[in-house]
Amino acid sequence: MGEEAVEDALEVWIDQDLCTGDGICAQYAPEVFELDIDGLAYVKGTDDELRRQPGETVPVPLPLLQDVADSAKECPGDCIHVRRARDMVEVYGPAAE
Ligand code: SF4
Repeated sequence: MGEEAVEDALEVWIDQDLCTGDGICAQYAPEVFELDIDGLAYVKGTDDELRRQPGETVPVPLPLLQDVADSAKECPGDCIHVRRARDMVEVYGPAAE
């Protein structure tokens, strides 16, 4: 069970080049997404620190999965990518369909 959970662990990153700065993601899941002073959204770890390197990921906390998935679906920039940590296959986001 524990191993399975790790295998299915998801992580999320944002392509800031496409972010419109509307803040929808931060409304859906403020624990994971935050707008920085540059007006763009970044993923945030449980340490509350934004991950500012391009392509940097944070783990998706399971209780927040639905909110993170909805963010990816509603994101006007199509720039939220949720993928399996195990094989980096995108499960929500522009590359998932
Ligand atoms: S929803 Fe998408 S486009 Fe809007 S702020 Fe978040 S990452 Fe940027």
